[in-house]
Amino acid sequence: MSTVEFNDRVAIVTGAGAGLGKQHAMELARRGVKVVVNDFGGARDGTGGSATVAEQVVAEIEAEGGEAMAAGCSVTDMPAVEKMVADAIAKWGHVDILVNNAGVLRDKSFHKMGMEDFQFVMDVHLTGSANCTKAVWDHMRERQYGRIVMTTSSTGLYGNFGQVNYGAAKLALVGIMNSLHQEGAGKGIHTNCISPVAATRMTEDIMPEEALKLLVPEAVTPAVVYLCSDGAPSKTILTAGAGGFAAAKILETEGIWLPEADRNAEAIAANIDQILDETGMQEYASGGGQGGKFFRRMQEVMKG
Ligand code: NAD
Repeated sequence: MSTVEFNDRVAIVTGAGAGLGKQHAMELARRGVKVVVNDFGGARDGTGGSATVAEQVVAEIEAEGGEAMAAGCSVTDMPAVEKMVADAIAKWGHVDILVNNAGVLRDKSFHKMGMEDFQFVMDVHLTGSANCTKAVWDHMRERQYGRIVMTTSSTGLYGNFGQVNYGAAKLALVGIMNSLHQEGAGKGIHTNCISPVAATRMTEDIMPEEALKLLVPEAVTPAVVYLCSDGAPSKTILTAGAGGFAAAKILETEGIWLPEADRNAEAIAANIDQILDETGMQEYASGGGQGGKFFRRMQEVMKG
């Protein structure tokens, strides 16, 4: 079994005043990581706000003998996020790990959803994660080391009724991971995703009580700690909840090649079973790799 190690690491965990983020922050601190506990402290829908939730988690970490500092800013406030990163570097010299975990919900079926609720959820999950990542990116590049975790969701990966805004933002984080994986390769920066299932205030009214009892947030944290460690993979989506751990992947079918004369919607309809056939389905390492499939087929056709 490989060893999970943290050598003099500093982490920022966003939305760490409660729920999953609090467990991630506390476990990292138990493993000797110095932790910035970020939390805006608002309600589930993002209204209100109080820095005290972050301060309370810092007090709990310190009571266990760990080191932490509080940052009560919103991840949507770029100057405040930049200050949070600068404060961590001023105090501990570096930032090595970023767990983008802060999140809100504004669920409504799409026909009832106002665009302000769409935008707000995108701002917190997508722009908030991009802000924090941007604020540490150059620093991590200079140090040739970084571990970044995006918190995606089964809603983004697979869909859920009433969560168009949330699902759009959560799958966009997978998109950020896919490209940052490439940009961080060679710079020692690994970017991954966690797709958690846990009983928190976010899920308390959408899951049955028996399920909630099993879904303690602590059961997700080992996957996040692994993704933050020196030995973390890159471009991996781990799913975790209630003791279950798995990986989600984006795969593409082998598909078909249509000669020029047959490139029409009728031919697609006639061949849809073969297009959807999962035999030989594969995951591509990059967008270019997927494009290469079509390029290779083109060359074969040109050769005759
Ligand atoms: P939670 O509501 O308990 O925790 C979210 C935390 O983020 C809160 O403490 C909140 O104050 C903070 N936050 C909200 N907006 C913020 C902002 N602008 N800036 C800084 N902090 C902010 O919910 P949770 O279930 O622990 O969710 C954590 C993450 O996991 C979220 O990204 C959520 O979407 C994701 N997630 C959770 C589940 C689940 O089953 N609980 C499933 C899939 C994904």
